[in-house]
Amino acid sequence: MQEALMPELETRCGNSECGAVVEQPWERRRKEYCSKPCTRRARELREQERCKDLVSKECRGCGEEKPIGEYRYPWTPHCKACMKERRRKQYEQQGGKDYVYAQLLASRYGMTMADYRERVAVQGGRCAICGDEPESGRLHVDHNHTTGAVRELLCRPCNHALGNAQDDPARLRAMIAYLERHS
Ligand SMILES: [Zn+2]
Ligand SMILES: [Zn+2]
Ligand SMILES: [Zn+2]
Repeated sequence: MQEALMPELETRCGNSECGAVVEQPWERRRKEYCSKPCTRRARELREQERCKDLVSKECRGCGEEKPIGEYRYPWTPHCKACMKERRRKQYEQQGGKDYVYAQLLASRYGMTMADYRERVAVQGGRCAICGDEPESGRLHVDHNHTTGAVRELLCRPCNHALGNAQDDPARLRAMIAYLERHS
């Protein structure tokens, strides 16, 4: 009787390919596997066994009955075509080929690629200062360096000009006066 109440101190990993010793912590739920990979592998083996006679099944995405070869694994709920489509959509949501720029927009301005594209559309693809349409490259997001607030989209030269003038209207006016004096 006393024996039966003693908790087991160690067992063997439930993954039949492993069989390592699993130490059993006191007062906690019994640990079945030695590691996360073993937990995963054991599940995979269980699923393999369960699906071994499966010839075809219905895809949870498109709802079509498809041969099992059209699934990455027999137990994958979505067919390969649906998985591909899901990956494509996810890729698009993250900015597609603009992925790197989308990351920068998000971290620097808290903007999504959709926000950016909307602003480009609103400005007709043109710089908010000179009205030029950049031939190559994209419009830059101009922001107030003190408050961080996004202003408008500018072409590269205009954006740099503002930066070089340190966003100072007095300096910019003096520059205009200077240019006109020497023209
Ligand atoms: Zn194991
Ligand atoms: Zn499907
Ligand atoms: Zn410009």
